[in-house]
Amino acid sequence: MDLSQWNFDELSRNNYEQACNTYPAQAIVNMIALRNNIRHLVDVTQHADRSAQTAVMGVVKADAYGHGVIPTALAALAGGASWLGSAQPREALMVRNAGIGVDRCRILCWLYNVKHAPLEELISHDIDVAVGSLPMIDAVMKAAKNINKTARVHVKVDTGFGRNGFTQEEFPVAIQRLAALAKSGTIEVVGQWSHLAVADAPANASFVQCTDNQIAVFNRCTAMMQEAGIAPQVRHLANTAATLTRDSIHFELVRPGIALYGYEPDSAMGSPSKYHLQPAMTLQAQLGTVKHVPAGYGISYGRTYITEQDTSVAIVPIGYADGIHRSASGYNKLGSAHVEKIGGPVLVKTTQGNKVFHVSGRVCMDQFVIDLHGDAHELGVHEGDTVTLFSDGAGANVGEPTADDWAKAADTISYEIFTCLRNRIPRLYLGARDVLSESDLRLLDASTIL
Ligand SMILES: *Cc1c(COP(=O)(O)O)cnc(C)c1O
Repeated sequence: MDLSQWNFDELSRNNYEQACNTYPAQAIVNMIALRNNIRHLVDVTQHADRSAQTAVMGVVKADAYGHGVIPTALAALAGGASWLGSAQPREALMVRNAGIGVDRCRILCWLYNVKHAPLEELISHDIDVAVGSLPMIDAVMKAAKNINKTARVHVKVDTGFGRNGFTQEEFPVAIQRLAALAKSGTIEVVGQWSHLAVADAPANASFVQCTDNQIAVFNRCTAMMQEAGIAPQVRHLANTAATLTRDSIHFELVRPGIALYGYEPDSAMGSPSKYHLQPAMTLQAQLGTVKHVPAGYGISYGRTYITEQDTSVAIVPIGYADGIHRSASGYNKLGSAHVEKIGGPVLVKTTQGNKVFHVSGRVCMDQFVIDLHGDAHELGVHEGDTVTLFSDGAGANVGEPTADDWAKAADTISYEIFTCLRNRIPRLYLGARDVLSESDLRLLDASTIL
């Protein structure tokens, strides 16, 4: 992603400059990439040989993996998603309260506090709810009765993930209760669903076997529901990994999250381009102080990085309070730990072309340092220059870091890289006017449109 190539008009330029005035880092979300990623997922789930169409749910939990729930939801709908998924009720309600009605998408909400969740509000706003325990069934029943409206529920079964859902032992009791409530019209059993533990390791035979077992349990549960007269119309099991690698379990609905944002679930599966996905977010910052320091100079807390030569260093003014992982700190052998650990990457434009430098020393609360391994004057690097922490790594900028590279440096996954980015970093939406209708565009904060 090279913003200098983007054709900014006056409105975009003002918004961009306002964001730069507000904060020395910006997260730029490419709406065209979000839409195209969903379009691709819609394509890979269309099976000519099946009677039922597979629908695609864009998973927008956790503020759309840090990308912003409303813009992302709208881009997903523009790309052909007909469902949205959210863990918490708050985000599901935000979507409906923005005016995105049931005529445009179904929404499923799956994680709530049975004692305090706004279940009545969810049901009255046509939001489907998951039930995976007896207390959840009771809570949904009460809410539906209170407002005298049938609740649409998706029955969660634990097929071997060990997180939410009914175990095999509990399932017969749950089914009895659900069947009675369905008969009285208190609930409508819409879906049956489960979640996979190791679908992101299609090359590991024992993990493939685990997924096969989960599928077998899932199918047995469907049969039990059918026998009890509550046959699920919408079955869904596939996350991104299974959507991309297991056609046979697409059923009526798939639930990709990370693919919407342009990443594969595990970099061991290959890069985004292998799956025809484009990373949507670019994280950039404007450099603070750039200065010369001598050889043997300690950088940042704990002296984990000591300069090897006379060099220039630059401050990147975001830190762990922005969600930059402290575990992406960089150590060198001269440093106090005497081990080499490559820190998170930063792409800097220099007179010698684009170069990738790394976090040098510890990531601090609001900033970190990069060793430029040379003279900033000669490199043409100045205070105020815009640098890129991660972007789509494609096009003219092959070799540009991606969130996978930051994940590797921080010993985590790309999911955590985005979701940790705090909201004090402004989000800007590139291509919003290309992707959204006039009326959808009005649902965005106008100052965030590029
Ligand atoms: C997060 C989540 C997904 C999406 O997973 P990805 O790996 O991002 O595709 C799907 N289903 C459930 C229940 C989830 O919690």
